[in-house]
Amino acid sequence: MKTELLRVDERSDEILQRAAELIKSGALVGFPTETVYGLGANAFDAMACLEIFKAKGRPADNPLIVHISKPEDAERISYTNELYYKLAKRFMPGALTVIMPKKDIIPSEVTAGLDSVAVRCPVNKIANRLIDFSGVPIAAPSANRSGKPSPTSAKHVFDDMNGIIPMILDGGDCDVGVESTVIKISEDSIILLRPGAITFEMLKEVCDNVSISSAVTEELKEGEKPLSPGMKYKHYAPNAQLYLVDDEYVDFVSFVNEMSAKENCAVMCYDEELANIKTDKLLPVGKKNDIKKQTKRLFMLLRKADDMKVTAIYAHLPQKSGESLAMYNRMIRACAHRVIGGTNGKI
Ligand code: AMP
Ligand code: MG
Repeated sequence: MKTELLRVDERSDEILQRAAELIKSGALVGFPTETVYGLGANAFDAMACLEIFKAKGRPADNPLIVHISKPEDAERISYTNELYYKLAKRFMPGALTVIMPKKDIIPSEVTAGLDSVAVRCPVNKIANRLIDFSGVPIAAPSANRSGKPSPTSAKHVFDDMNGIIPMILDGGDCDVGVESTVIKISEDSIILLRPGAITFEMLKEVCDNVSISSAVTEELKEGEKPLSPGMKYKHYAPNAQLYLVDDEYVDFVSFVNEMSAKENCAVMCYDEELANIKTDKLLPVGKKNDIKKQTKRLFMLLRKADDMKVTAIYAHLPQKSGESLAMYNRMIRACAHRVIGGTNGKI
């Protein structure tokens, strides 16, 4: 199959109409959102959604997020409640995915047989218009091959999906850089299943009863079933082994200089450290306090490390709170909990 890679903005109506026609005909389209690039199909079309799993090599028990263009369109596909509309008022459109009981119109292939559905309303104008033009909700996971870091540029999607899908819409680099915050809600409580740009602290401002699933920060125990199936898979992993250095216990610069002299490794460091690190295999992540920029660059840098053909990557262990929790969650899973120094790790 030939894959068209087309540069678009929200005014590219002609191309967006063509993409919408592909969605309506049961085909897959790669498209930008504010979080990461998505691989979209008509959420009402079970066959089209099964193609997503094939294209990604995604395990069939990992459900898809369904994207809508207006918060109230959740009525079509799920049983909403007051808390949903409180959250929608504050955070939608935006990087928040809400899991609610599903309506029958959503095929069980989309939800991997679960009786709930994950709903998100993206703020990215290209994504929003694509959904509108399609006239159906769009089921879309991240547009990477399963196990690879999520794509934050159209080039990443092309690298993974060239020859597999007919069209990729290039809307430039994603603003956020990690996937949406995923929560499961009841009438009066929220469980945070995957941290993202909408933080635990922000959710607390809307609802008193917010808890964090242990799978966000801890390794699953043997045989343990996570609330969100995606949590059990090793994700976001580059080919090289990633190690996280707990810099409260280990002097980062001396440690990575020692390792760089011994092995073929890359170093993901803060801009402030660049001058003191003695290797040319550098992955500068941003300033120490600029968490937004670090988050935005993370997946791009993990992909770049693979291009460098290194066998190991050393990076700082992120803080486990606030805006940093999303990075902590992605990195701790990408390194399979290999932390150097401190009480956190095994090494
Ligand atoms: P992705 O689309 O690749 O960003 O992944 C979507 C995430 O949402 C995965 O971790 C899924 O397991 C999770 N998810 C989607 N639908 C549900 C659901 N109905 N219940 C629990 N988790 C879900
Ligand atoms: Mg994904």
